[in-house]
Formats: sequence, C-alpha cells, structure tokens
Amino acid sequence: MNHGASGSLVWTAKVLTLFPEMFPGPLGLSLAGKALENGVWALESVDIRSFARDKHRSVDDTPFGGGAGMVMRPDVLDAALTATAGPPGTPGRGRAIYLSPRGRVLDQELVKELAATPVVTLLCGRYEGVDERVLDAHGLEEVSLGDFVLSGGETAALCLIDAVVRLLPGVMGNVETAGEESFERGLLEYPHYTRPAVWTDGQGVERSVPDILLSGHHEKVRAWRLAEAERITQARRPDLWNRYEAGKKAEGQIGKRGRRRGPKPE
Ligand code: SAH
Repeated sequence: MNHGASGSLVWTAKVLTLFPEMFPGPLGLSLAGKALENGVWALESVDIRSFARDKHRSVDDTPFGGGAGMVMRPDVLDAALTATAGPPGTPGRGRAIYLSPRGRVLDQELVKELAATPVVTLLCGRYEGVDERVLDAHGLEEVSLGDFVLSGGETAALCLIDAVVRLLPGVMGNVETAGEESFERGLLEYPHYTRPAVWTDGQGVERSVPDILLSGHHEKVRAWRLAEAERITQARRPDLWNRYEAGKKAEGQIGKRGRRRGPKPE
C-alpha cells in the first residue's frame, strides 16, 4: 500500500502496459517527478506480458472475423487486472480505465474527479486494441485523449496522470495559479507577459506589453484579464463560449431569485 508521510493513502496510479519502461518517463522530472520522489503520489507499472501463460508469452492474437492487426487477449488482461486489484482489504484498483479513442474525452472536470479518487488503474492498449469481453467483464470505463489515434495507450496515460498530479495538494507551488487557468472558469486563459517590458523581435519590431499590466491597478488588471479570456474563448472555442454564457445566464437568474427573498449572501 502506498502511504504518505502522514500515514494516509497517497494518490496512486496503477498502469498496465506492455512497455513498463515508459513509466514514469517524463513524469519522473520536474514538478511531477519531485512529487513522486516526495511520496505525494505513487506509481505502479504492471508488465502485462508477465501474465502471459503460453511458451511464447503471447499477449495478442489475430481478430475473429478477419481483418488487419492483432488484438490483446482477454485471459492475459484478466489475469493482469485481477492481480493489480490485489487481495480484499487493500485499496484495490479504484477507478479502472481503458485508454481508448472510443471513450469519454478527458477534460478538466474528469481530471478533478480522478484527483479525488485515491487509486486509478489505467489499461494501455496496443495493436488494434483489447478483446471487448475483458472490458465488459471488468466494467472498465473508457477514456480518450481526443479524436485522433495513438499507437498505444501509454502516452495517453502519461498525459492523464500529469494532469491529475499537478492538482494534488503540495505539487504546485502557487495554489492561486491553478484557479485562474484555462478551463477552471470555463474559459481559456488570458495572455501572459514578462520582462522585458519592451522586446525587439527578429524583424526589429518593438513589442511592448499592454500598459494596463504595468499600471499596478489590480482591479483593472483583473477586469482586463477576464475580458481577454472571454475574447479568446469566444473567438477560438464556440463550444466553451456557449456553455460559459449559459452558465452566466443561469447564475444571473439564481442571483435575481436570491435577491427577491432577502439580502444577497456574501
Ligand atoms: N483500432 C483502434 C485504435 C487502436 S490504437 C480504433 O480504431 O479505435 C492502440 C491503442 O492506443 C488503443 O488500444 C488505446 O489504448 C490507445 N489509444 C489510441 N488512441 C487513443 C486516444 N485517442 N485516447 C486514448 N488512447 C488511445
């Protein structure tokens, strides 16, 4: 079991893969790497091939019905999933996910849900994918990274874990940063600027930062950033923008109802 310094269970990712050497990979560096070292989260990579039982250690076979490619065998995956869950009384496999282009598309809402789940088991497919029966038998949830096809679930699992780990308490230095970021308010983020205040680009064009950011006027800066976030979201992501507007409208209505009943709560 993976326990933190305080004795409580730390967020644990159990990854079932044919390429365990891909983990922690990039998650062993920077913020996630430091947090892993400090025991803020834990990683168990499970080599699916070690559950193969025939003399060739085969994990895949040709698809029934014909067609190209290979399919990962249900008996091998079943053994790997069952072993990963561990005996009763242990934290088990928690939320069990098969990374798959057919799944619910990963978004910040799901990332937050997963950050609040102590154990997440991630099955990484290869080849054409996995035998459908093992998904049914184990009730695996399918999660996709987006509408494109990867060669394996490992890079998707790395992205998912990265997004979760940065939300765990103590991983990000500045807690405020997380609250303002893209998607947190249903908006894309406003533009950032740092020194130098005037920068000359390769074509000799002097580029300065918006004056308002140098004004020291916090309220005006906040309003400017919100307006920029709204402008960018409306221009680039009509889907997010429509949801944001609907949310604001609903909030307005709740506000009005609240006012009729009595003084506005703080
Ligand atoms: N034949 C499948 C694609 C298999 S790609 C299809 O057409 O749907 C091989 C593996 O990569 C999959 O089993 C899955 O685990 C992973 N994968 C591919 N695309 C992915 C995506 N968009 N999100 C998450 N995992 C993906």
